[in-house]
Amino acid sequence: MFIALNLLLGFLPSFPGVGLTKEVYSILGMEFPRWFDWVLREADIYDYGRYPIKGMGVWLPYGFKLRRYVLNILRRLLDSTGHEEILLPLLIPEPILAKESEHVRGFEDEVYWVTHGGLDPLDIKLALRPTSETPLSYMESFWIKSYKQLPKKYYQIVSIFRYETKATRPMLRVREVTTFKEAHTLHESFGDSERQIKEAIEIYRRFFDELGIPYLISKRPEWDKFAGAIYTIAFDTLLPDGRALQIGTVHNLGQNFTKAFEVRIQKRDQEIDYAWQTSYGISERAVASLISVHGDSKGLVLPFKVAPIQVVIVPIPAGKELIKNEVMKEATDIQDMLKESGIRAYADLRDDITPGEKFNIWELKGVPLRIDIGPKELRANQLTIFRRDLRTKEKVPKQEIIKEVMKLGREIDDGLRKKAKERFQNRILRTSNLEKAKKHIEGGGIAEIPWCGKRECADKLSEVLNADALGTPLETQKIPANLKCPICGGKAFTYLRFASKY
Ligand SMILES: [Zn+2]
Repeated sequence: MFIALNLLLGFLPSFPGVGLTKEVYSILGMEFPRWFDWVLREADIYDYGRYPIKGMGVWLPYGFKLRRYVLNILRRLLDSTGHEEILLPLLIPEPILAKESEHVRGFEDEVYWVTHGGLDPLDIKLALRPTSETPLSYMESFWIKSYKQLPKKYYQIVSIFRYETKATRPMLRVREVTTFKEAHTLHESFGDSERQIKEAIEIYRRFFDELGIPYLISKRPEWDKFAGAIYTIAFDTLLPDGRALQIGTVHNLGQNFTKAFEVRIQKRDQEIDYAWQTSYGISERAVASLISVHGDSKGLVLPFKVAPIQVVIVPIPAGKELIKNEVMKEATDIQDMLKESGIRAYADLRDDITPGEKFNIWELKGVPLRIDIGPKELRANQLTIFRRDLRTKEKVPKQEIIKEVMKLGREIDDGLRKKAKERFQNRILRTSNLEKAKKHIEGGGIAEIPWCGKRECADKLSEVLNADALGTPLETQKIPANLKCPICGGKAFTYLRFASKY
């Protein structure tokens, strides 16, 4: 099937730099899920559906490198703001997982249990971690005694397991989330935990901005918050099929877990109190959205910053053997020169495939820049640079190549971010007209509806729009005084966002 699709794509018109939207898909005659499966497999990112456990995929070498460069950004942002990386055990004893009652209720239908050690049934069932608030709080009750140790910011990047009963999708809805970055912080006061929430949001903003992934930040409705949190803030983006994807969450946990686990601190005024906590997470959905948001009909389009190969050099040997050798040598020299400047460059010297085939392969893999070298370039002492995002070519004098690559790299990242953001913003509609809102959501977008704040009205809106409530805008909004909830006619205090959700 994948090969057939690949052939099919070869005959289809390309839409350079457009990014895939619902319109482009309809022209391609291909649905986003099929494109996504195809690109993951063909670009050597992720093998999904063949491993004999539902909801579990395999990261392939090129995808694993991409994942690593994406995580490097996240680690840099966390490390530079005082977060420290730790590693907790994968298994959580049942009594610990069950200690915070709301938390366990929220997770009980999706936990995997280890019940045997060898042939012996275990006295205590062990959960494969669905998230680590409980084991960490348990340990913090030993570690943390005084406000002087606070704030404390931990994070780990690990696998978590959730027995998803909905249809699984590669990277988007899996049973083993292989790339769960969970941060957990401890504070001496509610005020300081609120400051931490702001910091976490800022870190995530910068992370997604660097990847050029557009997002909306919403406060999730009370009934849709993280199990055990006071409230949840979420980052959502839109995939090319117009459905919203949650790509990051930030929770203020208050004292719910510290009370359950007796994490007590001595405060400045000598009083003993429970510490305050926050937690926030990001998963491989960041990689999935990076792929989906920027990709086009030729395959991946990767930002320069995270591309496993930033520049590929393709020699175009023609003519006599001597010239051929010179071209090959020049390709290697350029590769080494770029590498010395810290650029991830690769000279594709294979001689069993044609330059044309190489162009297709590297375009499919989304390599941001390609340098072509043939006898003509050699003679003129210049190089041809191809940009993957715009699919344009330009000539550059050889001695300026490093400067030019760096400049184009920045341009590509800025361009991708800007285009993705524009597309995203065009798909957000604020309206009181439910008919219009419903059509808009069906066409692949987010609608913001005036809302009185009552759950019953939100449920009714969900039903009428046939969509999920994402939550209310985080930023303070200027609400017109006469704005009314279209369900009950009462005064609207905010907007409630709706979309079809993954
Ligand atoms: Zn209402």
